[in-house]
Amino acid sequence: MKAIILAAGMGTRINDVIKEQPKSFIQIGNKTILEHSIDKLINHGVEEIIIGVGHLEHVFNDIKTKYNCIKTVTNEDYKTTSSMATLAKCIEECSDDAYVLEADLIYDSIGLFILKNSAYDNAMLVSGYTNSTDEVWIDADDDMNLSYLSKDKALIKNLVGELVGINKLSKKFLNLMLELYKSNINKYSVKDYETVMAEVSLNISSNKVKIIKLENYPWREIDCKEHLEMAINTIYPAIQENETNRKIRRNVLLNPGPATTTDSVKYAQCCPDICPREKEFGSLMEWISLELSDMVGGREYIETVLFGGSGTAVDEVIISSCVPRTGKLLIINNGAYGERLCKIASVYNLNYTNYKFSYYKPLDIDDVKKTLIEGQYTHLAMVYHETTTGLLNPAPEICRFCQENNIVTLIDAVSAFAAVDIDMIRDGFDFITSTSNKNIQGMAGLGFVFCNKKKLEKLKDIPMNNYYLNLYDQYINFKNTYQMRFTPPVQITYALYQAILEIKLETIEKRYERYKTCWNILKKAIDEIGLKMLVEEEYQSKLITAIVEPNHKKYSFNEFHDKALKLGCTIYPGKLSDANTFRIANIGDIYPSDMKKFVQFMKEYFSFLEDNK
Ligand code: PLP
Ligand code: MG
Ligand code: MG
Repeated sequence: MKAIILAAGMGTRINDVIKEQPKSFIQIGNKTILEHSIDKLINHGVEEIIIGVGHLEHVFNDIKTKYNCIKTVTNEDYKTTSSMATLAKCIEECSDDAYVLEADLIYDSIGLFILKNSAYDNAMLVSGYTNSTDEVWIDADDDMNLSYLSKDKALIKNLVGELVGINKLSKKFLNLMLELYKSNINKYSVKDYETVMAEVSLNISSNKVKIIKLENYPWREIDCKEHLEMAINTIYPAIQENETNRKIRRNVLLNPGPATTTDSVKYAQCCPDICPREKEFGSLMEWISLELSDMVGGREYIETVLFGGSGTAVDEVIISSCVPRTGKLLIINNGAYGERLCKIASVYNLNYTNYKFSYYKPLDIDDVKKTLIEGQYTHLAMVYHETTTGLLNPAPEICRFCQENNIVTLIDAVSAFAAVDIDMIRDGFDFITSTSNKNIQGMAGLGFVFCNKKKLEKLKDIPMNNYYLNLYDQYINFKNTYQMRFTPPVQITYALYQAILEIKLETIEKRYERYKTCWNILKKAIDEIGLKMLVEEEYQSKLITAIVEPNHKKYSFNEFHDKALKLGCTIYPGKLSDANTFRIANIGDIYPSDMKKFVQFMKEYFSFLEDNK
């Protein structure tokens, strides 16, 4: 879904108040009304926003820098034309169905939920009476289809309410509007977009616009000083109250996934029931796969195969699908997840070696290389980021060496992906795994296998050693049928769509920066309290930290955990047999303010250590 925002107008009735800025740059609350609208659209699954600009066009440049999903289209003739001329330009740039909105609006985001949820391809939000003195009155036929609209109430036969300026239109409907516009540009370029909408809806029987009437909808178009006062004094507070009431209670998860998610990701799960064998769902999964591939090296080289299951499921997929009976696998085991890869290999009776190494010291890369060559290994498996300790393994260096020596590489990137920069081709990764619930900030339930396309094709000849988890079978069936072989977690998939929109906007690089800012706050507190990190800073991922438990009679992990939970923060026990640690992760939709709150509590909890100093 796309959105078109019409923002070319001069706002002549409010110019003296807002001076050298377009109307949509009026600030209400903590941001401009345009940004309020953009954020709401993105939160409702809009992938691209096209803004039709004209008056003070240059002012929109900053907003394009801030939001990489925005493009602008200029109506050069904005002084002499009306909003239909701007919309016509936008339609030409819009490849999909779209929400069409006016830019000078504030509105309750429930309106977008209602349009998104509506079964109609074309729909218009209409409100009860606002007494704003600038009403556009809506006329509807007996089936509540838009038939006419006017600012002159006397011309309306069946009055249903006021135009809001938020609509959902199919690509087909938008094209019909464009055709009508082009059939007589002189006539239509001076018309408002809504008039043309009504004309198409009235005259083309198969393309009606359904009226969705919201009697008490909080919204305000801002055309003049009085409107601005109404917006600030009554409408915006009402919108704030409604939207705050719909927020979901926030827990700060400082465990290493499932991670804290945004409300928009949570709400994306509330979608109409759908049979996942429908084409619409196939397109969603295809979109997700392509976007994920772009995050690890590009859709040209990488194929992403989705499985219903957790991280361990996809780890089992690669170990059990990619190593033939004749193969010889070296598994680097320097943490609980490396150990788990060995366990999987043993269950499948593979010819493998458990290369065991210290769980908190950096790997001896030269020894790994030597072992690979001397042992004539065909496959290598390792964990990129060992979540057990926060140790970031030098997987790229080892895997590039493997590429040079024809060794296939299988990497668990479950807790590295979407924070650590990965380019599978550059890094020499052939098959890597991750899941929907860690740094990508979606819900738990989908596993990803990212595959080097050339290496994936070679799996065709390996006899199936597994069934549900077979990588090649899952891949080829999706290619051929556009369906997953077995029931996918439908709602989790919709949540993942939203999570991908959000990471594209934030970018992986900036997400990692945000995580590291939180880590630095944690690190400072650890030092101040006098605790010790298990792994040397240089070798850490800065995504999770294993902290050595103090040897003090007042310390109890359970008590520490329960007190943190009361504060809304979830912490995690350690996972080592030979060292007592607890772990604090700093991934998910968390911010420095969350970490500051947590470390404040942590300092208070550990105050008994003061006596030892
Ligand atoms: N691999 C790594 C590196 C992990 O961190 C995890 C989970 O934390 C897993 C595998 C297993 O994932 P799941 O618990 O989703 O099966
Ligand atoms: Mg108006
Ligand atoms: Mg207006």
